[in-house]
Amino acid sequence: MSDAIGLLAANLAPAEEARTPQARVAGAMKGFVQEIGALSAFRLESCIHCGICSDACHFYIATEDPQYTPIWKVEPFKQAYKREASPFAPLFKLLGLKREVTADQLEHWQHLLFDSCNMCGRCSLICPMGIDVAALIEQARHAMFDAGLAPKELYQKAAHQRETGQPEASAEPYRDQLLAIGARFGVEIPLDKPEAEIMLCVPRTDIEHYPSAVAALARVVQHLGVSCTFRSDGLVAENYGYYAGGKEWQREISLRLIEQAIACKAKVLLVPECGHAYTALRWEAADLYGKALPFKVRHVTEFLADELQSGHLKLTPAGTGKTTFHDPCQLVRKGGVNDAPRALMKAMGIKLDELKNHGGFSYCCGGGGGVLDIERAAPLRYRTMENKLREIDDTGATTFVTSCSDCRRTFDDAQAHFSWDKTTHSLLELVANNLLAAADRP
Ligand code: SF4
Ligand code: SF4
Repeated sequence: MSDAIGLLAANLAPAEEARTPQARVAGAMKGFVQEIGALSAFRLESCIHCGICSDACHFYIATEDPQYTPIWKVEPFKQAYKREASPFAPLFKLLGLKREVTADQLEHWQHLLFDSCNMCGRCSLICPMGIDVAALIEQARHAMFDAGLAPKELYQKAAHQRETGQPEASAEPYRDQLLAIGARFGVEIPLDKPEAEIMLCVPRTDIEHYPSAVAALARVVQHLGVSCTFRSDGLVAENYGYYAGGKEWQREISLRLIEQAIACKAKVLLVPECGHAYTALRWEAADLYGKALPFKVRHVTEFLADELQSGHLKLTPAGTGKTTFHDPCQLVRKGGVNDAPRALMKAMGIKLDELKNHGGFSYCCGGGGGVLDIERAAPLRYRTMENKLREIDDTGATTFVTSCSDCRRTFDDAQAHFSWDKTTHSLLELVANNLLAAADRP
């Protein structure tokens, strides 16, 4: 076994280690070629190799290493497409213009497709040919998963979530932890109501790291008096099948939430502060479900902004001092959730000192797309984050806010790593605290 293939095996899920490298390569290529539809073929054929997408990607910007050029991240799959499915495939094969992809190549591409891509979509935004590079990378992740080439951290969490509903085993099931958080913070947790207008779910990141954010969600819905419930059998917002590239697993994990929302006749599935959960449920779940969802999917920030606009939610000055905000990529770039967080902050008297790159042009926190969970990816992630932290510092803000728990955790991890002087705050918690403070006022 070559060193490269040995390294590849070391990063694989245990069940996949038995497959030969050749079988994995064949699986990856078959998976990708099968996924190629007219749209993806069009995208692959449209690239004019201008390299502009590299200027959009924080991995390239931080390293200036050409291997981090976004479109290069799908190169083996482009090679497979040219050889197997393009209009000139027979010619490419006959003349040997496109070589077969090797196991060594895929070992390297595991790093490019998983460790060094947050699926943030900034490259897709900037491509002059309108190529959705991030969508191609997502398809390439599907093929890597089919070939048993997903990083083991993501594979194992996806397998556990598919099996049990939780990405990891915990001493206490999340359901019990949720109730314990309610008791600790003195807020009612609506759970397993047979019917409700709104179904709630929770980021595992909040259960494990930010219980105050779980309490904040319960507090704001209680304050607004909306009919809502968590459901024990569909609690977790994140979808590790999506991160790992396991399309069928992603479908099964989404199905847990969909079935529970249908069971309680919810009109809205409310996504908490989790960006990738929003993408998986808002933009991909219906496709995997095979028909339109019989309820709306809303992010909690959108929901609160609507409540503000309708006059149900009243906020008062929060006194946060100089404040800046990180737009989570999945919300602002994929969901267009740009005005909602700003409306909420404006209602709390917060005048934002915006980041140089904000709104749709915001850079990723560096942890999205499962990257935060991949241990070996940490050194590159830290290097990539330096630019982002500098942008935040350059605003002169003392309060830093975001609306995604995984972004928050990524920044908190950076705080520990760099001894950074900022703590990241949740917008949802700011709103909940604002309501609490107003209630306490005489
Ligand atoms: S910006 Fe678009 S056209 Fe240019 S290299 Fe990247 S993907 Fe190809
Ligand atoms: S999706 Fe984001 S991280 Fe991935 S290649 Fe594009 S810009 Fe880079």
